[in-house]
Amino acid sequence: MTRYLKQTQAQLTEQKHSQVPTIVSGVIADIRAKGDQAVRKYSEQFDKWSPASFLLSKQQIDEILTKVSDQTKKDIHQVQENVRKFASAQLRSLNDFEIEMSPGVHLGQKNIPISSVGAYIPGGKYPLLASAHMTILTAKVAGVKNVIGCTPPIAGKIPYATIAAMHYAGADQIYLLGGVQAVAAMAVGTETIPKVDFIAGPGNAFVAEAKRQLFGEIGIDLFAGPTEVLIVADDAADPFTIATDLLSQAEHGIDSPAVLITTSETVAVRTMQYIDQLLPNLQTANIAGGSWKNFGEVAVVEDLDKAYQLADEYAYEHVQILTRRPREALEKMQHYGALFLGEKTCVSYGDKAIGTNHVLPTRKAARYTGGLWVGKFLRTVTYQEVTAGEASGQLGQLCGRAARAENFEGHARSGDLRAHKYMGEEYRW
Ligand code: NAD
Repeated sequence: MTRYLKQTQAQLTEQKHSQVPTIVSGVIADIRAKGDQAVRKYSEQFDKWSPASFLLSKQQIDEILTKVSDQTKKDIHQVQENVRKFASAQLRSLNDFEIEMSPGVHLGQKNIPISSVGAYIPGGKYPLLASAHMTILTAKVAGVKNVIGCTPPIAGKIPYATIAAMHYAGADQIYLLGGVQAVAAMAVGTETIPKVDFIAGPGNAFVAEAKRQLFGEIGIDLFAGPTEVLIVADDAADPFTIATDLLSQAEHGIDSPAVLITTSETVAVRTMQYIDQLLPNLQTANIAGGSWKNFGEVAVVEDLDKAYQLADEYAYEHVQILTRRPREALEKMQHYGALFLGEKTCVSYGDKAIGTNHVLPTRKAARYTGGLWVGKFLRTVTYQEVTAGEASGQLGQLCGRAARAENFEGHARSGDLRAHKYMGEEYRW
């Protein structure tokens, strides 16, 4: 039996503001009709931002780089090295191949990089430079030739370190532009912002909705909206660590849920006490406290099997396992964006440093997709070649019968023609 000591008190942004889809579709339609003029209007309205050009020149980027400390640059390079190393290993796991189905019948598969990608680097509240590594760098590892990046100003200011991360990740063009206006401009193209084939990157409920509405016209990576964390803990887990790690994700935004599922009532109660003690000393307490109050949940269950089963129902973006045998979650769990096994790692490592991709599915999208990875920037295509006449003739006979079963006479005649050419069968048009 599941007993909740604390449950959600509010509705998430996209449920509360049923006008999110309407606002987003209005902005997209306006940018489609009026291009740059509408982009500027919404940038002024939502971000109070209207520079002479949203595109940063090489000179501006060089100036911005001088404002970033050497230590920050060093850290960006180190994290990007970790992201590159893991993404490169993922790329090596994707082999092109060709098989000979029968003598003379060759079928193959190739992975071809998408030609142009738009990377959205969120930044309404915080400079999320890690998202630059995850999107731009991963696209470059996949071999995407043209990657443009958009990120918003933060309270009217240029996020220097984010721009540095975008530049070092290999962005071909960088625009200081945020929200729906950035996503829509990259998707439909304007006089100054080129249209891309694919948009990747996380964002708030408006950004995620814009990607959802534009999907089809462009490809998207996944539905990577407001972040979520869920911790599975047994009675051996440290409540102070649990409290610290839940708050670390709650500070993302006031609609970022943080959930604890534990087999121990003592761990549950101590964790809630620690959260109350720790919050006043956290600089981001207004956000983390708000999200914990509204969306924090604590559930006590009878055993770990029940904990894994309940965690699977949540299908959360981040799932952290703080138990005696954390690796058993790899066998027991199915639905999550990323797993964090044991106390020596944490979701913050995944977000900022360790090298796995932090753009992950939210709002139960983990039921049908994993997170961003090099494979999302590749198109898996197939090809075929038949080099033996007899094989082609036999396929022609099969194709003719199969097509006529569907009343496709034109298809059937393509097959008949090969059967005639290579096996001497009678043929009439
Ligand atoms: P953001 O860049 O996503 O959004 C900022 C933009 O939102 C602004 O530029 C503004 O144009 C637009 N906006 C704000 N209010 C609006 C309104 N009322 N109407 C229309 N547009 C509006 O930055 P953020 O807000 O700080 O959010 C970042 C989000 O990214 C967080 O929710 C975080 O949890 C999420 N995130 C998710 C993942 C993931 O993988 N799922 C990873 C990192 C971050």
